[in-house]
This record gives sequence, structure tokens and C-alpha cells, in this order.
Amino acid sequence: MKLFTVGPVEMYDEILQIRAKQLPYFRTAEFSQMMIEADEILKRVIHAPEEAKTVYLTASGTGAMEATVMNCFSQQDKVLIINGGGFGQRFVDICKIHDIPYTEIKVDFNMNITKELLEQYSDCGYTGFLVNIHETSIGKLYPIDVISDFCEKNNLYLIVDAISSLFADTYDMEKYHIDATIFSSQKALALAPGMAVVVMSGRIVENRVLKNTVKSMYFDFKDYLHNFERGQTPFTPAVGIFIEFANMLKIIDEMSINKKVEDTKSIASQFRNMAKDMGFEMPAFTMSNALTTLVFEKNAKKIYTTLKEQYDYVVTPCGGEMADKLLRIGHMGNLAVSDFEELLKAMKEVCSMYNR
Ligand SMILES: *Cc1c(COP(=O)(O)O)cnc(C)c1O
Repeated sequence: MKLFTVGPVEMYDEILQIRAKQLPYFRTAEFSQMMIEADEILKRVIHAPEEAKTVYLTASGTGAMEATVMNCFSQQDKVLIINGGGFGQRFVDICKIHDIPYTEIKVDFNMNITKELLEQYSDCGYTGFLVNIHETSIGKLYPIDVISDFCEKNNLYLIVDAISSLFADTYDMEKYHIDATIFSSQKALALAPGMAVVVMSGRIVENRVLKNTVKSMYFDFKDYLHNFERGQTPFTPAVGIFIEFANMLKIIDEMSINKKVEDTKSIASQFRNMAKDMGFEMPAFTMSNALTTLVFEKNAKKIYTTLKEQYDYVVTPCGGEMADKLLRIGHMGNLAVSDFEELLKAMKEVCSMYNR
């Protein structure tokens, strides 16, 4: 079986070998040291600002999205949410549940975020901005420079769910004045699911996280920040995944983050060129290096099922009204160009079967 998914993705041999080992006890100096070293690499590769602080959660990505909203905002805030698909909707649902006043900016399939679109929300008393920089549900990458300029001008806290973009696309927390970066283990890091991370700017930690009263024990960041001063977490972490994470960051650091991103970019663009030559259609919007969206007139779901059952290739289907129109092909994890050549060959066969 080969995964062309968005997460979990094909894991690397080095990490699979680590996974096979007995887990250690974690309240030790060695575990702390491993986490502190990993945290230093992480902050360096994402260009976190000098005083940035990290919270390591044992949760899926959504847990970190919800926890970030709970710790950074309150009922006195007014936040803007980019809602261009399933993950934007998730931020909306989270704000609803936690009574955070919000306005959603709906972004249609073929629309992108522009300066003009955002401008109408200027000087309206907003305090925060929530965006999934890569709306994975349809594969659209939003322009961080446009968003960052708007947030700077309006002095908004900028929260970026970079879960499926970080380590696949270039990312610079300091340059774009990002106040919180959220990601999780099972996407471009190609680790098992279960770890979610939030890296926060000094100003959001000082002015929000440390002052906010959070009605949750497990998700109160204050405890995590305090514990991480010595490389620990308040509760038992997903020890194995934390070890995978520390090792993966070392691997990325050794090869350099630029090379990691360039490799993914190269695979994505080769795939797109081949797909185009073979007559597959792609959306007009900007896509992340993490995945390519293919647009079909019909039968996308059938194509997904046949690829899985007859070829052992798992691509990523879509839900809802897009289910028969879109398939998403992941480029993250342990995949080579030859894997994508094979996949396209198989897709061509399946498509001719269904008379696309
Ligand atoms: C995968 C993903 C998440 C997290 O989903 P979980 O299932 O909770 O891990 C959140 N946001 C985006 C943009 C994602 O791609």
C-alpha cells in the first residue's frame, strides 16, 4: 500500500525504526535535554522570534487549534476568521463554542484573499485574525504577505494554522509577525499522529496567555510554559512521537530546511507538469507544495475507491459537495517522483475505465 494522503503519510525508515523500540520513562534529564534541543531547532527553522515560547500538546491538530483560541482570546475580543473550507469552518465552530465574538470571511473555491477583500474589515475594532494558511480541504494556499500586512496595519494578533504547510512550504514567523504557529506531527513531518505544537510570540504570551483565565485543566498553556522551562510537559506526553519528532528535526536540520522545502516543491511541480500533460485538470488558485488538487467532472469518489482496491494506492478523497469532483494527491512524506509516475499511470487507466 502506498499513501498519497495528507496525514498520516508514508513514513521514513529512520523513523519507523525508532517507532519499533521500547519507550523510555520520560521524567528524566535525557528526555528534557532531547526536547530542549528539538525546540531550539524548531524555532530556528520556522524563524520564530527571539522570545518565542512553544507548547507541546498530546492531541491532534484540532486540539491545538482549540487550545490556542482558548488561551489567546476571550469574550472581550473580536476576531476575523478566513473560512474557505472545512478547516476554516473548524475555527468558526471553535469560536462559537467558546463564545469568542467573530466575523467569518467566506472565501469561495475560485477566490483568493486580496488586499481589497481584507480592507473592508480595517478599523472595525478587530483584535485577532485566524487563518489556516493552507486550506487542506481543497488544497488552497493563502497569501501570507497580504494577511500579514493587514494584521500589522490593524494591530491584530495573527494566528496561523500551518498544520499541513509547515515543512512543505517556506515559512517565516518573524518576517510575517505571526503570533501563533500551529502544526501537528502527522503531516509534512511524516510522523505518527498525536502531537500538536503551538509556537507563540513573546507579545501574545505576555499580554494574553499569561493573563487569560482558561476554563480547562488539560489545555491551560500556563502550565505547559512553566514545565517546558525544564523541557517537560505537565502530563504524560505521547513519548514515542516526541522522540520521533526530535529525530526528524535533527534530520531536517542536517539536510537544511531549505532543501526539505525545495525537495517537496520539486516533487509537486514535477507531478503537476506530468498530470497536466496527461490531461488532468487542476484549480486556478495557488496550491501548497504539500498537495495537488485534481478536478474531475464526475466520479472522483469511484476513482479513489478503485485506486485503493485495485492498485493499493491511497489518494485523499473530499467530503461533501466536492466528493465527486476533487481528489487530493499528497506530496508529503517518503515518496519519490517514480511513485507519482506510477500513480498517474494508474489514474489514467482508472479514468478511462470510467470514461472521465
Ligand atoms: C490536518 C489539519 C488539521 C488537523 O486535523 P486533526 O485531524 O485534528 O489532526 C487542522 N488544520 C489543517 C489545515 C489541517 O490540514
